[in-house]
Amino acid sequence: MLRIALHWQILAGMVAGCLVGLVLNVAASDRSVTVTSNLPDGILEAEVTDSSSRTVIRYRDDQQTETTVIVTPASPSKDGIRTFAELAKKDPQASQIYNRHGKSLAKQVGQWCQKIGGLFLRMLQMVSIPLIVTSLLSGILSLSGRQGIGRMFGRTLVYYLATSLLAIVTGLLLVNLIRPGLQTIGPESASTAETLHNTSLVDVIFGQIEALIPSNPIAALTQPNFLSIIAFTIIFGVFAVRVGGTTVTRIRDITNASFEVMMAITTAVIRLAPVGVFFLITAVLSTQGSSIFQSLGWYVVTVSAALAIHACITLPLILKFVGKRQPLEYAKAMSPALLTAFSSASSNGTLPVTLTSVEQRAGISNKTGSFVLPLGATINMDGTALYEAVAVLFIAQLHLGYNLPLSQQIVVAITALLASIGAAGIPHAGLVMMVIILQAVGLPLEMQGIILAVDRVLDMARTSVNVWSDSCGCAVVEAFDSSPESSS
Ligand code: ASP
Repeated sequence: MLRIALHWQILAGMVAGCLVGLVLNVAASDRSVTVTSNLPDGILEAEVTDSSSRTVIRYRDDQQTETTVIVTPASPSKDGIRTFAELAKKDPQASQIYNRHGKSLAKQVGQWCQKIGGLFLRMLQMVSIPLIVTSLLSGILSLSGRQGIGRMFGRTLVYYLATSLLAIVTGLLLVNLIRPGLQTIGPESASTAETLHNTSLVDVIFGQIEALIPSNPIAALTQPNFLSIIAFTIIFGVFAVRVGGTTVTRIRDITNASFEVMMAITTAVIRLAPVGVFFLITAVLSTQGSSIFQSLGWYVVTVSAALAIHACITLPLILKFVGKRQPLEYAKAMSPALLTAFSSASSNGTLPVTLTSVEQRAGISNKTGSFVLPLGATINMDGTALYEAVAVLFIAQLHLGYNLPLSQQIVVAITALLASIGAAGIPHAGLVMMVIILQAVGLPLEMQGIILAVDRVLDMARTSVNVWSDSCGCAVVEAFDSSPESSS
């Protein structure tokens, strides 16, 4: 039987969702009827508009004064109702519009699509915590039993954190510069904006530091507080490695087995993405119309430009001046891994190719490659970190109608860093992790539906950047390891 690759299925779901959503949007759009005959005394003309959220009555009296009355079923104005009642009595067409208010079939279909698409988002949420914990733990526990890794571990970690932070800063700079979410759509929710503004920078940073030391790790799991979960998992893993012996072996076996199961569940959930994308895109387009395409286009441009800057400028500079390698030659040597990463959108899946390319084509020692790369595939994801930061700021721009304040952008940066550390190296893992950041800054999770449509192509690009950064990390760690200082 013909099997269509998942990304084509997602694309098909997206196209179908766009078409259905646009039809619904047109069907649910404002309709108005102008009534000129049989009007109540003193009213010359009235227009009854049935829009997605209100009914508007406009009328001109014999003094040519124009009055607009808005009637909403939730808070009807007395004048509006009286006027409307008089109109409705005389014009059955207007009355029909009023009765249809809030119940239009198109709107209802849009709402149902949102609900069904929401089930898919719930599944993503369901897998996120166990996936983070098992992925992170298995990465850290794989270090146990290896001799003399202390110093190498320190350097690798510094490189990973530094490059991920640089990637996030690049992403934030570009998203603030290009403002993809502000290209077409105006403010939507002032109240959320106010809540977001209410905290000072020091409070925000201190709050994040507090979260890194959970007073109750089990409570952190149920809240859920992702920062605390990630912090405690790292602490647990590092100390399990220090305890060593059969303790760590047992924990590692259980963790690896659980991680395998979680990867299988996540892969199964991701298989539903075409259906999820269809419903979510339908819901988004039925309410926002085609204007969303423009924003989405700018969003793709922003993520791609930021990834390109990180991959083609920042990392090559580090490679040249710290790793002492020729960036072009090194990239050529790594090309099989980079292309596999691009086509598979999975750094874990690419790992065997990355390992062989690094050792056989780029001349990195097995000691460095076999340590830096498996750890990198789990915790070093520059592309994912950058993408998370841009995506969340884009969502905030769309939802609030303006940029998040600096204090909130810092929260986004910190959580994006942790989300990238916790993300598994499988397709769309970054999407699963985004829940963490959206929650941290109080943005609605449903907004993820908008970016789902273009996630696959961005996933391919960010996975290549993830693998490229891991490979550059090998050169950097190797350069330090072979320096005379280090060997003395
Ligand atoms: N697919 C990416 C990887 O495997 C993770 C992500 O979704 O960002 O590296």
